[in-house]
Amino acid sequence: MATFKEFRNNVKPNWCPGCGDFSVQAAIQRAAANVGLEPERLAVVSGIGCSGRISGYINAYGLHGIHGRALPIAQGVKLANRELTVIASGGDGDGFAIGMGHTVHAIRRNLDITYIVMDNQIYGLTKGQTSPRSAEGFKTKSTPEGSIESTLSPLEIAMSAGATFVAQSFSSDLKQLTALIEAGLNHKGFSLINVFSPCVTFNKVNTYDWFKEHIVNLEQYPDYDPSNRMLAMNKIMETGGMLTGLIYQNKERKAYDDMIVGFKEEGLANQDLTLPQDQFDKL
Ligand code: SF4
Ligand code: MG
Repeated sequence: MATFKEFRNNVKPNWCPGCGDFSVQAAIQRAAANVGLEPERLAVVSGIGCSGRISGYINAYGLHGIHGRALPIAQGVKLANRELTVIASGGDGDGFAIGMGHTVHAIRRNLDITYIVMDNQIYGLTKGQTSPRSAEGFKTKSTPEGSIESTLSPLEIAMSAGATFVAQSFSSDLKQLTALIEAGLNHKGFSLINVFSPCVTFNKVNTYDWFKEHIVNLEQYPDYDPSNRMLAMNKIMETGGMLTGLIYQNKERKAYDDMIVGFKEEGLANQDLTLPQDQFDKL
C-alpha cells in the first residue's frame, strides 16, 4: 500500500512561502494514502490559478487544464476510465467565476469526483483582483473603492443544486482537511470541499488570523446531523458560510456513473467505441 510520501514528486512548488495551498497538497497526499490509493489509480485535474499548479506537485496522473474547465475535463477522465479515482481542484476564481456553470452542473450530475477548491477570496495568480468570493467593500486594483457586488456563497449554491456531499475546511487544520478529503474520496458521488486557503501575498484582509477568528467549526455541535438538508442550509446561512466540517452528505442518491445503463456491468468504458468504417462513410 502506498504511503503519503509516494504521492510526492520532485517538483518544487513555486507558491509563495506561507500560501495555504501547501497544506492542501499535503492533505491530498495523506488522504490518498489513507484511503488505500496507489499513484497510478489517481488523477488530479486542475484549472488555472496559483492553486491550479497542484496537479503538477502530486505523484499521480495530472492534468493542468484551462481556466474554469477543470470539471469538464475531470468528468471526461472519469467517464473514460472508471478505474481511476479523480480529484478536480482549483481556486475560487476558477471554479466560482468563469467555471461556475460547470460547477453547478457537475454538482447536479453527481459523477464520482472529489472537487477541492482553494478559496482565498481573491485572484492570486494575476496579482490580486476581487473574486466572486471577496466580501463587499473589499478593495483591490479592480475595485479600488471597494467591491459593490454581493459575495457568492458556494455552499448555498451547492445545496440548492442538489449536492450529495458538501464540506468546508481550513488549510491550517490539516487533521480536519485530511479527514474530509478522505470522506470525499470514499463518497460515491460528487463531493465539494471548499477550503479556506489564505493568499498571504495579496489578501491582507482574509488572513490566517482572520479565518481563525471567523470560522465556526461543526465540532461544537455534537448533535449535528449531516444528512439533514434543511439543517445544513440553515447552518450555512446562520454562520455566514463560515462553517467547517462535513456539512451535508446524502448517501442514498446514486452516482451518475452508477446510473448509466451498462456502464459498470458491461464495461462500456473499456469498449472500442470507434465507428465502423461503413457507418463512418455515411456521415
Ligand atoms: Fe499563494 Fe497568493 Fe502566492 Fe498565489 S499569490 S502562491 S495564492 S500566496
Ligand atoms: Mg482565488
